[in-house]
Amino acid sequence: MIYFFGWGDTTNRNIDSVRIKCRYCGHISTFDLKQVRSWISFFFIPIIPYAKKYWFTCSNCDSGYKFDKREDFERFRKKLLAFKAKKRKTLTLDV
Ligand SMILES: [Zn+2]
Repeated sequence: MIYFFGWGDTTNRNIDSVRIKCRYCGHISTFDLKQVRSWISFFFIPIIPYAKKYWFTCSNCDSGYKFDKREDFERFRKKLLAFKAKKRKTLTLDV
């Protein structure tokens, strides 16, 4: 019997979105804050997650920022929530 194992399959989960001006393409576009998980699969079905990354990307040009540490992601997510609640005037990425 042949078994098919694999790794590197990814799933994306959109956590939040905001419309801001992109510093790369100059358009006001939707930026998605998303979680990308990598999986070990068995017969092409994701079974075991082995990596988790967080991205904040422009939907127009796909430029963005990667958060390697969960702490950086959580800090930025709080900034994003404050920005959306109009408590702050600018959205900065100082990670
Ligand atoms: Zn852009």
